[in-house]
Formats: sequence, structure tokens, C-alpha cells
Amino acid sequence: MTSTTADDALNRVNTNSKPSDLRITDIRVAEIVGAPFTSALLKIYTNQGIVGLGEVRDGASATYALMLKSRLLGENPCDIDRLFRRIKQFGGHGRQGGGVSAVEIALWDLAGKAYGVPIYQMLGGKFRDKVRIYCDTDAEKPSGTETGRRLKERMDLGFTFLKMDLGLMQVAGIPGAVVAPAGTLEGYRTHAGRGQARTLEERRLRNAAYDVQNVRHPFSALHFTDKGIDLLEQYIHEVREVIGYEIPLAIDHVGHISLQNGIRLAKRIEKYVPAWLEDVIPWQYADQYRQLQEATTVPICTGEDIYLKEGFEPLLKSGISVIHPDLLTSGGILETKKIGDAAQEHGIAMAIHMAESPIAAMAAAHVAVATENFMALEYHSADVPWWDDIAIGLPKPIVKDGFITVTDKPGLGIDDLNDDLLSRHLQPGVTGIWQPTDRWDDDWSWDRTWS
Ligand SMILES: [Mg+2]
Repeated sequence: MTSTTADDALNRVNTNSKPSDLRITDIRVAEIVGAPFTSALLKIYTNQGIVGLGEVRDGASATYALMLKSRLLGENPCDIDRLFRRIKQFGGHGRQGGGVSAVEIALWDLAGKAYGVPIYQMLGGKFRDKVRIYCDTDAEKPSGTETGRRLKERMDLGFTFLKMDLGLMQVAGIPGAVVAPAGTLEGYRTHAGRGQARTLEERRLRNAAYDVQNVRHPFSALHFTDKGIDLLEQYIHEVREVIGYEIPLAIDHVGHISLQNGIRLAKRIEKYVPAWLEDVIPWQYADQYRQLQEATTVPICTGEDIYLKEGFEPLLKSGISVIHPDLLTSGGILETKKIGDAAQEHGIAMAIHMAESPIAAMAAAHVAVATENFMALEYHSADVPWWDDIAIGLPKPIVKDGFITVTDKPGLGIDDLNDDLLSRHLQPGVTGIWQPTDRWDDDWSWDRTWS
């Protein structure tokens, strides 16, 4: 691409379109893996040649979006809120929010392209020009010193905010660190992923692993011993020894431990000044979240698995410090803006969870610049060399010196996707990108939820 790319892209937007005559004609997906996890990129096609981009959340099935196709064909995509209210009954918490959210984002992209306006402007304009990124780092290294060195490398790349894992799986293999009912920890070490089971026995084992991971924290009977807590404290101590104290460091993936174990860990790591402690217990237990936050000075955070603003409301009253919606679960762009504004009324900051492609990143970035109490946006792809190349038309690198800059281009600001690249990163069992989805054209049921 040449330096005139941006201008060309602006010219490619159909400025002769009549937004009132715009209609949805097709919805297709590209199911990819490795950017950094699995996700399904979404295209909504129209009768005027413009295409809207969305994305189904990491780890979710594209079915969540495709089942909405018959409810959307023939509609004007600029009627974002009306269409969202029609389909939102088909979304749910966690990955089940992925389809509705993907569609909502693509509708915003289309509306922006049809009217020639960036999404942030349609949300009310900017509070900031650049979006602060927090760089997430999985705790693959056995020692805090090694993880600290990895985090220091992130800092050298310009990141100004970090997150790492600290919890059960780092100490589960160490004798005397965790009290656990016999056999339970094995289930946490097995990931019940797509396409791995073929025989009935393989399916049974996969389902068994899934069931173990579905045991909610209060019912797991897992406890850190004092030795386990000592080891976790030593880990974050070593990390801080390397990275110092002048950069925020959030903590995630504590494991399926109880409220009481969460309190013990939180109090022990207060002196290392975490930016927040995330998802210690399932978000549904708002009363337990109140107890957790009241027991520690560490800011308590949750929210990446909550669908719709109404799901956040009990937590906003619980006294937690940071909410952490994922646009690809929460219901998309407008719902996340509303969630952020509601949190602000309670004095709660909004960080944004994001572990997918530049489509999800830009959707989140538009909300982030347009929401006052925004704190930092997740970036999980610092080790994915091809991540930047997925999207065509964005400034490169997309994350520069720890920030994303949102441009004035219409919609999300993405001209197109790199199909050659996507074709080389298909999920197992997927045979191509943007394949026909005709089988979803006529799916029908009487969807009304009341009589
Ligand atoms: Mg998390």
C-alpha cells in the first residue's frame, strides 16, 4: 500500500450512497486462530457496496452471529439501536454475547461509512486523542524474575500499563501449595478446545474437563496454603524488583478459589500496589464482591463476561473500583459507552478487555476515546507478529509507544482486511473465509418473549 492509502480509502467510501436506502444483503465470517486466540471476523454486506466489520469474541462460536442473519437481512444497518433491541434477546453472558456484539459493531461501522463519520464522533466526540493500552502477559514463566524481564521488555516497547497472571496454576504443581480434592486440579490443566474430540471417549473426556472448569469458585474446595500464598507473594515481589513501582501492574487469573482465599491473596499483595485484581470470583456474586473490596485496599475489578448494562448494575452498587467490559460480550459499542457512563456515576473507572483482532481493538478504541472514565484497553497480541497486518488502512503499528491513535476515517477506520493473511490462519476444520452462509437466510422462529 502507498502513502495515499488513507485518501484512497476515504474516496472508496460510497459518498453517493443514500443512507436511508441502505440495506443488509449478506453476513459472512472468517474464523481465524492465533491473533491471539480464536475469533470469527464478521462482514455485513449491503446493497450499496459498503461492508461493515465486526468480530465474534475470542473463544466463541460464529454460530452466535450467523443465527442472527435471517433477523437482519433487508434491514437498514443505520438503524443500529432498533436492530440491536431486536436481536439482543439472542445474546448472553460470556461468549454467548459474541454474536449480538459482533453485529452491533458492524452496524456502527456501516453507519459511519454511510455518513462519512468516525464512530467516536457519533458517540459524542473525544475525551482524548490516544487510547492507553495495557499489555497483558500470560504467566508462562516459572519465576517472577523471568516474567519481570518479559514485562520489562514490554516497557522498553513503550507500554505504560501492564497486566500479568498470578494465581492457582502457578503453584498448583508445587507440593504443599494448594489444598485440593483429589483429581480436581487435573481438570484445570486440560483445555476443552474445539475440534480435539473425535471418538465418543474423546468427547466424554473433553466434556469432563469442561465440567471441572464449570465448577464455580465457592464450590471448588480449593485453598492456598500459607506456602502457596508465600510463593505467589514471592512471584510478584520478584516482578516488581525488575519492573519497579512506577508502572501500573494489574493482576488476572487468580484461579477457581473462594472469596476467603481471594481476600488472603489480596491482602498479601497490597504492598506491591496492583492496579487491580481481576475476576477473583464469578461476577454474579455482587455481595461477595462487596466483601472482597471492603477487605482490601487493592482495587477490585470484574466485567469481561457480563452482557448488557443491566448485568453490571448490581456490581456498580457493590463498591468495586474498576469495571472491565469486553465489547464483544457486553453488547458492543453503544452498550459499552452506556456501561462506562453508568460506572462513572458510581466513581468507578472503566478498563476494557480485548483479546482479538484489530477490528475488536478499533471498536474498543472508539469507545475509549469517547468515554470519560476510561482507564486502559487490553492488548493481548504483543507476541503476534502478523496482528497489525490483519487490517488494511490503519496507521502502523496500530499500537505505538503503548497507545492506539484513532483516526478521523469513517466507521472503525479500517478499509479492508488482508484475506491472504487470514486464509493462512484458519481455525481447525475451517475450509475458507467469507464462504456463503445461505443456510442461515431463512432460519425462523416466533422470537417474541412474551404473549
Ligand atoms: Mg481476565
